[in-house]
Amino acid sequence: MLTDLHVHLRPDGEDTPASKYFTAANAERYREAATERGIEELGVSEHVHRFVQSLDVWTHPWWRENAHDDLDEYCAFVREQSDLRLGIEADFVPGAEDRMANLLEARDWDYVIGSIHFLRDAAVDMRGSEWDIWRSEEPDKVWRRYFETLGEAARSGLFDVLAHPDLVKVWGDGVPAPGGDLRRFYERAMPGIAESNVAIEVSTAGLRKPAAEIYPARAFLEMCLEAGRPVALSSDAHAPEELGHEYERAVEWLAGVGVSELAVFDRRTRSLEPLG
Ligand SMILES: [Zn+2]
Ligand SMILES: [Zn+2]
Repeated sequence: MLTDLHVHLRPDGEDTPASKYFTAANAERYREAATERGIEELGVSEHVHRFVQSLDVWTHPWWRENAHDDLDEYCAFVREQSDLRLGIEADFVPGAEDRMANLLEARDWDYVIGSIHFLRDAAVDMRGSEWDIWRSEEPDKVWRRYFETLGEAARSGLFDVLAHPDLVKVWGDGVPAPGGDLRRFYERAMPGIAESNVAIEVSTAGLRKPAAEIYPARAFLEMCLEAGRPVALSSDAHAPEELGHEYERAVEWLAGVGVSELAVFDRRTRSLEPLG
């Protein structure tokens, strides 16, 4: 089986209202594109920050600018007008675990994907914006904090899947990056990941970014496999044509690290299906 669980029904940014994208016809376009690519298990995971209810969790100015839609309408749309799995991409906000738990537990997701885009108020993936962490911070410090936070996210128990686990590499050579063996950073996440029940996302989105690599790096995934964590395969598509992006390459890559099963989810219960 092939899966695509970390999927957005619309691009990020302006002029992408729910009324235009949360429609049966749009969901059907995604289903058709997935079927063409041999992807059976298809779900959507809109960004939590696009929903007004996210402001009960965190009031970062960038979230305030982007929180327009109603979360319960999104859930009802996916359940009633599509045949897609219902997921969400939710940020891990340290200190707001209880508030995020309240938001998540009130709704019947098939799965919750946990992400780290921000370290405190600064974003690792918003190059050039006023929130860009790379304007001021030392790369080693950012990488250390990123992986420590990733471990905390796993340990929080809030999430079924850890998204794009080494997103901190997104800009490739475009920002200063630490040298040498990067396992010294990965190790900071591993105690939390090893104690958790979380699945590790393997995402081909990194291949579309300056990093030009699958998320996560092979060495990171090997450490997670050693810790007994299963793998969830996704493309982080923001349009139907991005579904299953470079999956031939991902499947081969997964086989190379000894992964033979993929995680699937139903009402937050995980099972494993043979890969391929
Ligand atoms: Zn993300
Ligand atoms: Zn995403």
